[in-house]
Amino acid sequence: AEVRRVSSVQGVGVPAGTVRLLYNENPLGPSPLALKAASEALDGCNRYPMATVFSLLEGICALHGLSLASPGSAADLGALFEAFEASSVLLGAGSSEILQAVALAWGLDGGEFVEASPGYGAVGSAAQSMLGERVRRVAVPLTPEYRHDVEAMAGAVTPRTRVVVITNPNNPTGTALTLAEITRLADRLDPKTLLVVDEAYIDFAESPGVMSAMGLAASRPNVLVTRTFSKIHGLAGLRLGYAVASQPVRERLRPYLLNMLGVNTAVVAAAAASLADADYLMRSRQVAVAARTQLLAKLPEFGLKPVPGDAPFVWAKVQGDCGPLVQKLARADVLIAGGQRWQLPGYVRISTGLPAEMDMLFATLGAKA
Ligand code: PLP
Repeated sequence: AEVRRVSSVQGVGVPAGTVRLLYNENPLGPSPLALKAASEALDGCNRYPMATVFSLLEGICALHGLSLASPGSAADLGALFEAFEASSVLLGAGSSEILQAVALAWGLDGGEFVEASPGYGAVGSAAQSMLGERVRRVAVPLTPEYRHDVEAMAGAVTPRTRVVVITNPNNPTGTALTLAEITRLADRLDPKTLLVVDEAYIDFAESPGVMSAMGLAASRPNVLVTRTFSKIHGLAGLRLGYAVASQPVRERLRPYLLNMLGVNTAVVAAAAASLADADYLMRSRQVAVAARTQLLAKLPEFGLKPVPGDAPFVWAKVQGDCGPLVQKLARADVLIAGGQRWQLPGYVRISTGLPAEMDMLFATLGAKA
């Protein structure tokens, strides 16, 4: 019965009772205020979304201390576009769309993309699938502590490097860099090389010195920081992400992003409401941190070696190949990610879930095969 209750937030198309710990989704469901705002916004979906986008933009700029010009009248679409373009913000259908646009805008003339391995790899893989042999992916192994090797990444930069990507906290390992480490990397890059800092999971970070690089995006010409409403805000199915960058970076991306015209009224209204729902955001963080703490403490009891991290998921080394373990859990409808997704079959990545879902996970781990 407990699991059925949990399944009410599983979403469309997921069988009741499935414990879904494999895509780093928010197990709480969205903020009730976000849902209410989205349904109210649907009522006005015969209108273009610009005025709604502008209220979201105000929320994003306030959150990061970015300036935003007043557009005057919300009915004047030209003024809204102008004020949007003067802001430091870019919008996408998920941060994925922005990462893909970066791949195209910086890869079109060829060059190298430097990323950590194992890592999220979205920019390099998008560049490769769109541009083929014109681009080269440079995969820099993590340190033995599973962190980005900042020194090695800086050392991998050549005159052909177009983009260096830091995913902070990293996916799949959950480890995070301090802002000081990211700043040191930024200091070493030629201003023509773009530093992308993907902060999909930054809201879940607690380690000392791990902080957003938004300040760098606002103050340097070659840093772009991405955020998403898919994780801490629980809106993955509605698709919305944003980035902050300097005017030259935004100009270079402009041909490849629809921005205000590429997002829909429902998600924009939901996102604005969610940003203002401090209580929901606190609960999202608490659920993830509690489950993470539990995973770090308990996985060793089952022979797994978890990696301490700052994300709403945990990367863990298993004994031998992860296949039998992943399958045993799957037979009990507990789904986790096997490391072969990253060509590392000796590992698993387990997303954080609700307390009842974590209980199911541990009960199944402890059960006989
Ligand atoms: N960046 C990282 C590190 C992710 O793990 C994900 C999704 O899992 C994304 C970006 C893409 O998220 P979205 O397109 O939903 O914003």
